[in-house]
Amino acid sequence: MAADRVCILAWLRRSAEVLHEQRDYLTTLDAAIGDADHGINMDRGFTAVMDKLPSVAEADIGTILKTVGTTLVSTVGGASGPLYGTAFLRAGTALAGRQELQPADIVTGLEAALEGIKARGHAQVGEKTMVDALSPAVEALKVAVASGESLEEALYAAGAAAEAGMQATIPLVATKGRASYLGERSADHQDPGATSVTLLLRAALNGK
Ligand code: ADP
Ligand code: MG
Repeated sequence: MAADRVCILAWLRRSAEVLHEQRDYLTTLDAAIGDADHGINMDRGFTAVMDKLPSVAEADIGTILKTVGTTLVSTVGGASGPLYGTAFLRAGTALAGRQELQPADIVTGLEAALEGIKARGHAQVGEKTMVDALSPAVEALKVAVASGESLEEALYAAGAAAEAGMQATIPLVATKGRASYLGERSADHQDPGATSVTLLLRAALNGK
């Protein structure tokens, strides 16, 4: 099974819906260790993405993803705008000109997204950020695709790995981003960015 442009647009639409539904949840998580705006930021960004998508509906997948990136950079304040923006820009660049993605291409896109976030934010696994969800998700996707699992199974594995990584942020002390200002007091809270990463990956399977 491959993912065409229509699948990518449907994923983005579902992501916008989920982020809107989970806006208060993400904001509550950010209230504990940040400044209570992560849900607001993500909802604002993806609402702007939805407004922008009709202008690239006929474009290739790389162009669509790059448009998401530039829209997030220009509409989302805070750390998450440039980080997610860079992720989508890098994925779009890696998948330039593509009309259809095979499972291995989705690995390529997600790896590029992770590298973009790491390059921009300088975070490694274990620093209580979105990297803690995305990094194990990329690994799980890679393993599943290499062992010949279907795209649906591979995405399911990626979502499950992201969720485990998200849960694993709870005991961590943050050493990057706003939560790091709290030092030890950032422990015992789930990272908002790791949570939004998990929601975005889960949206690819429409909640499965
Ligand atoms: P801000 O922290 O500027 O208010 P958001 O609240 O929208 O921005 O996003 C916070 C999330 O951004 C955090 O939960 C964390 O996952 C992520 N984050 C912050 N700094 C970094 C970084 N340097 N690298 C990776 N992710 C980061
Ligand atoms: Mg915040």
